[in-house]
Amino acid sequence: MINLPRCAAIDPGVQKKLDAIKVELRPKRWYGKAKAVTTFKGEVLTQGRLIQRERCAWCTLPLGAEGRRTIHRDHIAPSSIYPQWTFVAKNLVISCEYCNGLAVKSDIDTIKELKDTYDDCEFHIVHPYDDEIELHIQFDSDQDQLPVVIKGVSAKGRWTVKNMKLDDVGLTRERAKEVFYERRGSMLPAPEEDLIERALDAMNIAG
Ligand SMILES: [Zn+2]
Repeated sequence: MINLPRCAAIDPGVQKKLDAIKVELRPKRWYGKAKAVTTFKGEVLTQGRLIQRERCAWCTLPLGAEGRRTIHRDHIAPSSIYPQWTFVAKNLVISCEYCNGLAVKSDIDTIKELKDTYDDCEFHIVHPYDDEIELHIQFDSDQDQLPVVIKGVSAKGRWTVKNMKLDDVGLTRERAKEVFYERRGSMLPAPEEDLIERALDAMNIAG
């Protein structure tokens, strides 16, 4: 996961219109063509891409043209369970199709204790805007500090790694590849072979 400094800023006029939509209608309106809805979704996407530097909030792999993964707007607390937060910018991140998709996040209930206001809720999931990620999720660092194998170091962190499948073998392999390409580009010829070997070992541990 990546620490995110802020969520998308939404024009107050637009937000007011969205807040006026009946709670139970909001998940359906999400897919509608109303101007306030499309503006909101546009801002979440364009600002989110900048804030997250074109990376998935969960698996951190590159999105869009640079990466091979398509960009999704992902409700942190799913709108199917919590329609009241369908149009809360803080409840949205940009994610890849894998993390947002049916195989992983889908409609998992991410809230531990529901409150009247979003900020008062207690989450099962490590919250990308509110939580300091390193306190919950860390990369298992071997002697080479390869940031490949991920682990939860708190209850929230373990919940998130498990439910978001952040230790999935495919993802681990993708991260290893990224590290490999980064290091290959940064003039580290001598220990390169060894690093790749260790990255591969790390993947096996994750599997
Ligand atoms: Zn992802």
